[in-house]
Amino acid sequence: MYFIFEIAFSSNKNYIANLLRAYATQQAMKVDILQTADKIIMTFKKEDEKLESFLLGMEEVIPASLFLGKGKHYFAEEKPALMPVEKVNLPLNIAPCPSCQKEMFDVISRRYYYPFTSCNHCGSQHPFLTKYPYIRANTTMKFLVPCAACEDERKNHALRMDYPLISCIECGIGLRMLDKETEHMALNKGDYRKLFEVSGRAIAAGQSVLMKTMHGYRKFFKPSTEEDDTVLSTLLMASAGGFNEHLMMVEQEFNALLSIERPLLRVATKSDALKALYGSSVQVKYPDDGMTMLLAREVINAGLEYIAYVECDSSVEADFLVDFDMPINSQKDMKLFINQDTKLFVSGERILFPAQVQSNKNRVTVAHDLACVKVEEKSIIDALEVFDTVDTSEIYVLEDEDFESGHSNEHRFEQYKASMMSVLSEHYKVGQKAVGVHFDGTLNFLYYNGKTVINAVPAIPFESDNLWEKIRTLREGSDRLVENYKKAYPEVWERLDTLEGDMDIFEVTAITLGLADESFEGISAEALSFLGKGGLQIDTRVKDNRFDNYAFLTSIMSYQLGDVENNFMCYSIYESFGDYIGEIVPQLCDKVGSNIVVLTGETFANQSLYARIQRTLGQKNPLMSKNFPIGKENAVHGALYL
Ligand SMILES: [Zn+2]
Ligand SMILES: [Zn+2]
Repeated sequence: MYFIFEIAFSSNKNYIANLLRAYATQQAMKVDILQTADKIIMTFKKEDEKLESFLLGMEEVIPASLFLGKGKHYFAEEKPALMPVEKVNLPLNIAPCPSCQKEMFDVISRRYYYPFTSCNHCGSQHPFLTKYPYIRANTTMKFLVPCAACEDERKNHALRMDYPLISCIECGIGLRMLDKETEHMALNKGDYRKLFEVSGRAIAAGQSVLMKTMHGYRKFFKPSTEEDDTVLSTLLMASAGGFNEHLMMVEQEFNALLSIERPLLRVATKSDALKALYGSSVQVKYPDDGMTMLLAREVINAGLEYIAYVECDSSVEADFLVDFDMPINSQKDMKLFINQDTKLFVSGERILFPAQVQSNKNRVTVAHDLACVKVEEKSIIDALEVFDTVDTSEIYVLEDEDFESGHSNEHRFEQYKASMMSVLSEHYKVGQKAVGVHFDGTLNFLYYNGKTVINAVPAIPFESDNLWEKIRTLREGSDRLVENYKKAYPEVWERLDTLEGDMDIFEVTAITLGLADESFEGISAEALSFLGKGGLQIDTRVKDNRFDNYAFLTSIMSYQLGDVENNFMCYSIYESFGDYIGEIVPQLCDKVGSNIVVLTGETFANQSLYARIQRTLGQKNPLMSKNFPIGKENAVHGALYL
């Protein structure tokens, strides 16, 4: 008889299962741990008397994760026989796990206030990688010699067995703090702590601190309406208690922000203080690396619940600089989108990359500075610069990628094709007919005939130069609208008259509406603040069912002249897109005889559009990326299937 404990786990990442194994070793517990495509299964001998204390202790050791779902337990006569996912040893880039955090805040530990604290199952590992395979000799830590205590841990500590990046204050990376006149090196525990304490107090006193973190340089400051950086900054919630006071969040959003993966999330503001600083919504982060986490602790000690940061480079002016000499490769941070129980990775590298994928082709793919390359017989997707040159029979490169392979068998591919193939492959639908929508600023309807992806209803190209001329000639009466608009909004009229030709429709729409953030994000943020019901129909086409950017803009301008509120308009923009997509997709499905629908592109990461799509296309269960970002970065994976 066996006792089986199962937890849903919606990722092929191994760090939670590996941490469970290490914990079992530590506790000398006999348990089989198996990870499948969608869960982690632990099989215990039923009569084991250590079982209860093991399960209780597990809660202390295992972090919250974006990928963890509900658990259940049952008894069985046989051990479950299921297909395990492949085990891989790739460097992580997530927050420290509970055990490592405990060390960082334990004054007895060798890692008290040591920001580079990590183990095999957590922390910032990837920033130190210079090339594969992932061993210490291939990281920037190769010149640091572990002290005797670290050496001992590497042989005997269950969580740090053979850990490539083992280090502590004694043998690890030194920190220094500089202001305009002086420089302080941190040499011991007391110094490390002091350095973060001074930083926290400085920020509370209204000064700024430029800090090198494992995710690149960040300028930290107390957000205020006088500080220019505030509007586009990320809100760093230092204390978990501040979330419910200052932000309007559902449980799923709260859990995601606190997960060990620590994604970026756009959340509606609640407190008057935050509304005054950021408007209706703000991009939020809970401390995600050792440096930021230690700073956050001292920010709380200095009396603040939250601060803000902007990503920047080392040359930015600030009152203090906190730095270390070890070079790092930072990854683009990951933006997450949540709608009820759905989580979508919108864009970025951290959390999801590096990734191991299946491929039996002798092919290298390149897109958005990422590459898929075979290392020791395994296909790994990671940043271009961590791979050595390899032999390959062919190379697939994204069409606009600034990359010269010099390979005689180089193919260039379109984003939408690779994105759609990535989703089809993740859902085991390669080779079956399917309909797709790729929406990334421009909207394209796609058809996959089982072999290749065709752009079935391409968007009418949009060029923002000579805009008024194009609107004037759109249809009868349009010239009158242009004149009325010029009278009512002379400044906007002027700006739209002198646009460069290469702006996307959302930028132009944001300018038209006079939004502070002149981008797709700006419109999304504005839409988020609309709490009413829809009903405003924005015109999306003129002829032959294709989306017409000029008709769309004209429609927005006439509503503007009719004094429609901006947030209502922005909400309606996405709703109208949702209706349009919901009308075209079923037509395409009928035409080609397929009920498989794929959605790709970052524009789908929008509450009003996503909700509308669920309503109009819900029965078709549209497929989207699971282990990759939904828009750009899934292409490096999808190109394996072109
Ligand atoms: Zn750890
Ligand atoms: Zn050490």
